[in-house]
Amino acid sequence: MSSPQSKLQIAIVGGGIAGVALALDLCRHAHLNIQLFEAAPAFGEVGAGVSFGANAVRAIEGLGIGKPYQLIADRTPEPWQDIWFEWRRGVDAGYLGASIAPGVGQSSVHRADFLDALAQQLPAGIACFDRRALKVEETAERVRVGFTDGTEHECDLLIAADGIKSSIRDYVLQGLGHPAVAPRFSGTCAYRGMIDSETLRAAYRAAGIDEHLINVAQMYLGLDGHILTFPVKKGRLINVVAFVSDRSSQDPQWPQDKPWVKNTTQTEMLDAFSNWGDAVRILLECIPAPTLWALHELEELPGYVHGRVGLIGDAAHAMLPHQGAGAGQGLEDAWLLARLLAEPQVDAGNVKRVLEVYDQVRRPRACRVQRTSWEAGELYELRDRQVGDDQSLLSATLASRFDWLWNHDMEIDLASARAQLGWQ
Ligand SMILES: Cc1cc2nc3c(=O)[nH]c(=O)nc-3n(C[C@H](O)[C@H](O)[C@H](O)COP(=O)(O)OP(=O)(O)OC[C@H]3O[C@@H](n4cnc5c(N)ncnc54)[C@H](O)[C@@H]3O)c2cc1C
Repeated sequence: MSSPQSKLQIAIVGGGIAGVALALDLCRHAHLNIQLFEAAPAFGEVGAGVSFGANAVRAIEGLGIGKPYQLIADRTPEPWQDIWFEWRRGVDAGYLGASIAPGVGQSSVHRADFLDALAQQLPAGIACFDRRALKVEETAERVRVGFTDGTEHECDLLIAADGIKSSIRDYVLQGLGHPAVAPRFSGTCAYRGMIDSETLRAAYRAAGIDEHLINVAQMYLGLDGHILTFPVKKGRLINVVAFVSDRSSQDPQWPQDKPWVKNTTQTEMLDAFSNWGDAVRILLECIPAPTLWALHELEELPGYVHGRVGLIGDAAHAMLPHQGAGAGQGLEDAWLLARLLAEPQVDAGNVKRVLEVYDQVRRPRACRVQRTSWEAGELYELRDRQVGDDQSLLSATLASRFDWLWNHDMEIDLASARAQLGWQ
């Protein structure tokens, strides 16, 4: 058996979905020593829904967390079980079409429940809280991460899973000879809220609106806005995100001193959708105290890895949420990296090469998902140059536009990584 000193020492910074999923998989291997450092006093996620495409659900299963996930996940009910979202006009809820994800449909969870379920599986002694990473130093043999409380940790490999505002990303970019990259404001803001589904049911019934719109995930589309709904907590709550975009500037700016998330009023939200139809208005009237999120994204990075330091999740490829794919990409990162690091032949001597291969395999796909997530927003908000507001073109495009994303075979990625590493 390997002693703690002879084990490959891996530190993960950031205990969000990507960091915890990676830690959970890696800590099952006796030849690895895993420490996870989280800035907050405990693991925590916002009280909102998160949806996973078929590719992300496969990554969840591959990471060995399929069981706890399925226990808390919602799925589209029969006979609509394969529907990811139905697409409707915002003005009158008229049906435009549906995106079909065979065998998966809409698969979603309450974020806090999911992170709790993952954190419960993590063995004691792996997570350290109140440790905010500040800086990184590397020698030929080791990497040292310094925290804001003055403490340090030394390891063979450092994985930054510390989100869109990563404190480690610039170290990696500098190592690659690239200037620092700051998150950029997209020009889109999102009102978010959760509704007790019985409240919405009663309100729709009273207005003669079909309750199907509650049971099956919906996307309402309009010029410079769109709204999504899907059930969470076994249908007890409806997750709502209402997006509005200001496209008047090519380079929209969010003031540096303004928080990205704030409480706002229902009146402001209703005003933003004042010319939309009854289904939307009644939905929004059920959210008395929405929050408003200024949506930021990252440009496509030239690399996720420098030396013994690698980026995963939003630290590497934060994207707009329009394909429901950001967290899923973090899970794919974790899945591939965990498969590679689990190989007993990986040691302090060759781990840099493993990271390089992780970067080569994962980055093209994650960048494509970033790009197409932005494009999806243009499409939903009737600004796509080819499609515009042509409804038949819109429904045809939406029917198949996600297939490449969902049907991706990560086993092929793994085989390609193994071949690049010269592993049989
Ligand atoms: C409105 C909205 C809706 C979305 N919907 C979906 C969806 O339906 N499906 C989907 O797949 N994705 C969705 N996303 C994207 C998804 O939320 C993110 O991609 C995902 O949460 C990123 O996970 P992460 O673990 O990489 O980073 P984070 O969740 O940001 O976690 C980072 C962690 O690192 C910690 N941390 C930060 N800095 C430090 C530091 N210096 N030292 C130590 N710890 C640190 C933080 O406290 C946090 O715990 C949505 C995003 C938004 C804004």
